[in-house]
Amino acid sequence: MRPFEYTRATTVADALSGIAQSESKFLGGGTNLVDLMRMGVEEPARLVDITRVPLTTVEPHGGGVRIGAMVRNSDLAEHPLIRQQYTVLSEALLAGASPQLRNMATTGGNLMQRTRCYYFYDPSYRECNKRHPGSGCAAIPGYNRIHAILGTSPQCIAVHPSDMCVALAALEAVVQVRGPRGERAIPMADFHRLPGTTPQIDTNLRQDEMITAIDLPALPFGRRSHYLKVRDRNSYAFALVSVAAALDLDSGGMIREARIAMGGVAHKPWRVPAAERLLVGRKPEESAFVAAANELVRGAQPRRHNAFKVELARR
Ligand code: SF4
Repeated sequence: MRPFEYTRATTVADALSGIAQSESKFLGGGTNLVDLMRMGVEEPARLVDITRVPLTTVEPHGGGVRIGAMVRNSDLAEHPLIRQQYTVLSEALLAGASPQLRNMATTGGNLMQRTRCYYFYDPSYRECNKRHPGSGCAAIPGYNRIHAILGTSPQCIAVHPSDMCVALAALEAVVQVRGPRGERAIPMADFHRLPGTTPQIDTNLRQDEMITAIDLPALPFGRRSHYLKVRDRNSYAFALVSVAAALDLDSGGMIREARIAMGGVAHKPWRVPAAERLLVGRKPEESAFVAAANELVRGAQPRRHNAFKVELARR
C-alpha cells in the first residue's frame, strides 16, 4: 500500500480545504475506499477523515426529509421518519452489506462507492479502462455474470453497487454538495454517470466538492413502496437485480403515479420514466406490469454470462 497522510476535519470548511490539496480523498466509514487502497486500486496521497464533521441529523425539511451526509446507514435504516414515510429506503439499506458494515458506512460514502467488476478490483489485470483509461476492458471478452445489461459502452460494462442509491433514485432524492464555488444541488438522476467514453468517472461530483446532505422530497405514497433484491445468497451479497418500486392508487384503485428504479443492471440506478407512465391510469394488474417491465429493459444488451438478467429484471 502506498504511504499516505491522514488528517481529520471537524467542519465542512476544514474538509474542503483538505480536499483541495492534490491527490486527496475523503474518508467516511472507509468500507469501500480502504478495501480499494489495500488492493492497490486507489492510491491517494492524503486521506481527509470527515467522520467528525457534524452532518449527522435526519430531520423534516421542506415537506420532505433532509439526511446529513455523515448519518450511518444503520441509523438511517432505523430512523422513524424513514421507516414510516420512505419504506423503500429503509428496506434497501437493510438489504445492503452486513450489520457491521452498515454501522460504519455513511450516507455520503454510500453514494460514492465504486462500481462492481472483478477485473476493476484486481490490479493484476492490466486491461481496465476504469483503472487505466485506454487499456481496454477485460470483462467484455471475460467472465461477465455480474455485469451491466443496460446503458453500457464499448469501454465499460461495470455495474452500480449500491442498494440505497436505487431507492434514492425512485424517490427522486436530491444530493446537496458544497465546494469552493458555493453550494449546488444535483438530482439523483444526474449524480451517477453511464460509462460512455470516460468510465473512470463514476459521478458528477467534482474532486473539490463535498456531499453535505441528501434531500428526500415529500412523497405521500412513499410508505406504499418496497425494495426487492435478488442475489446469490441471502446476506452480504450484491444485487444480481434489484428493484425499488412505489405505487400511488386513486380511490377507484387505478394507478395515479408509479416509481420504479432498478439496481444490478447498469452503471447507475436505472430508471425509465416512460415505463412508469405506462402504468398511469391502469389497474394494478399483470398486463400493465408486463408492459412496464418490457419498457424498462428495452435495448438491453446482455453479454455471454449475464443474459439471465434480462428476464430476471422483467420479472
Ligand atoms: Fe474495467 Fe469497466 Fe471493463 Fe470492468 S467493465 S474491466 S471496470 S473497464
